[in-house]
Amino acid sequence: MFETISKGFRAARERLTGKGELSEDVIDAALKDVRLSLLEADVEFRTVKKFLRAVKAKALGEEVQLVAKGKDGKVRVRPEDHFVHICHEALVELMGPVDTSLARANKGVTGIMMVGLQGSGKTTTTGKLARKLQKEGHKVMLVAADVYRPAAIHQLQVLGERLGVPVFARPGANPVDICRDATEQAAMEGMDFVLYDTAGRLTVDDALMEELEKIESSVHPANIFLVIDAMIGQDAVQTAKAFDERLELTGVVLTKLDGDARGGAALSIKAATGKPIKFLGMGESLDKLEDFRPEGLAGRILGMGDLVGLMNDFQDVVDEEKAAEDAEKMLGGSFGMDDFLQQIKTIQSMGSMKDLMDKMPLGSLFGGDLPEEVLEQAADDRELVKLEAMIQSMTKKERQDPELFLQEAARSTTPAHAKLTRRKKRPKKAKDPSALGPEDFVESRVRRVARGSGRLEDEVMGLVSRFMVMRDMFGMLGDLMGGTGLMSKIP
Ligand code: GDP
Repeated sequence: MFETISKGFRAARERLTGKGELSEDVIDAALKDVRLSLLEADVEFRTVKKFLRAVKAKALGEEVQLVAKGKDGKVRVRPEDHFVHICHEALVELMGPVDTSLARANKGVTGIMMVGLQGSGKTTTTGKLARKLQKEGHKVMLVAADVYRPAAIHQLQVLGERLGVPVFARPGANPVDICRDATEQAAMEGMDFVLYDTAGRLTVDDALMEELEKIESSVHPANIFLVIDAMIGQDAVQTAKAFDERLELTGVVLTKLDGDARGGAALSIKAATGKPIKFLGMGESLDKLEDFRPEGLAGRILGMGDLVGLMNDFQDVVDEEKAAEDAEKMLGGSFGMDDFLQQIKTIQSMGSMKDLMDKMPLGSLFGGDLPEEVLEQAADDRELVKLEAMIQSMTKKERQDPELFLQEAARSTTPAHAKLTRRKKRPKKAKDPSALGPEDFVESRVRRVARGSGRLEDEVMGLVSRFMVMRDMFGMLGDLMGGTGLMSKIP
C-alpha cells in the first residue's frame, strides 16, 4: 500500500539530494513529483493543493536547524532530510488528530452502528471490532440489521460463532425494531457493547438513508462508523460526505488498504470531510484491523517505517517494556545487531512477514530507498535466514558495535570493502598492499563472518552498511523529533 505516493516522495527526495539549501525553485521542483504521485494515488484534488501549500510554507518558513548530532558534535541537516521531516509533519497534520478510543454511552450498553455501501467490508469490520473489544475484556453482542440479504445475516452468524459472541437476528423483521429489541436484550444480558451491522446499497440512496436515520434516532448509538473501501479512491470522499449529511458520523474505517497500492483516501478523508479515520482494514481475517495513527502512516509513506505500529504488532509476542526500549534505542541511534536479531526472531515467530514489511525498519535495512523488488526480496523468509546466520557469526562486540566492520573496511582495499568506504569518506589514499604490516594479517572480521555463515563477504558488508544507514536514519529521526521523548508523544 501507498507505493504510488511513496514513489513521489522518493523522487522528490532524490531531487533535493546534493542541493545546498531549500530555495523556492528547488522546493517547487521537488513538489512537482509529490503532486503527481498524490494525484495518481487518487488523493482528492483540493487536498493535494492544501498539502503542497502547507509543505511549501513550512519549507520556506523554517531555517534549517542544526539538530542532527554527528559523532563529532553537531552537523547541519541535509536539505533532503529536512524536507522529509517537513512532509512527515504536514502529513500528520493532514490526517490527524485522531482519537481511536470509542465513545461510551453514559450508562448501560454502548452502541456502535456500522454503516457503508455494499461490499465495503462492513460485516467483516463489525467482526473485527467485536474481536478487538472482546480481547479488551468487553462483553459484546452483534446485531444483524441487514435484513435484505439473507447471506449477510448468515455471514454475521458465522463470525459470531467463530468469536463466541451472541448474534441477534430476526430475519424478515423491520431493521429499526430489530436494533431496538437487540439493544434491550443486550442491556438485560449486561453487554458492554452492541454492534449493529446495517444494510448497504451499491450507491447512496434515499431509502437506505431514511432507514439508517430511523435506527439512529431509535437506539442513539454513541458511535457511528462509516466503512469505506479504499479501492474506490476519490469516490470515498463523496461517499463520506453523503453519509455525513444524514448521520452524525463519529469516524471512518478504511478497508482493503492491503490491496490498494494508492491509498489516496487515507489522505483525503479527514481533510475533505472533517471526519477522522479511526481504523484501517488490512486484510480479510479478523485480526487485520489497526488503529489509525497518522504518525505511523506518514512514516510508512515516507519510508521511515512505523516503529510504534510495529511494536503494537509485537505486543502479543514480546513484553511491552522491551518493545518501548527497542524503539527508544533505535531512535537514540544505539540499536545493535543483537536487538535487530531479536526482532527478526520475533517476526519469524509471528509468521506473515509480508504484512509487517512496510512498517519495518528492516525495509530500510534491506533497501533504504531501493525499489520495491528489493523489499519484496526482503519479505522472503529465506533472506531472513541468511541474515540471522550472518549476525550469529558475529562476535558479541561486533553485534553491539557494527561500526567495527566499517573501521576495518576503511583500512582495507578489497572490493567489497571499497564499496562501503566510498560512503564513509575513506582516507584519500588506500594503503599499498605491499606495505601491509603484521596487524593486517589477522583474519578480517568480514571474512570470518562470511565463512561462519556460509555467505559472501559482499553480503556481510551489505548487511552492515544497510544496518548503519538504518541506524543513522533512525538516530536522526529521533533527534529531529526531540530525542527519546518521541515515544511519550505518541499515544
Ligand atoms: P459488506 O457488504 O460491506 O458487509 O462487506 P463484507 O464484509 O461482506 O466484505 C466484502 C469483501 O471484502 C469480503 O470478501 C471481505 O472478505 C473483503 N474485505 C473486507 N475487509 C477487507 C480488508 O480490509 N482487506 C481485504 N483484502 N478484504 C477485505
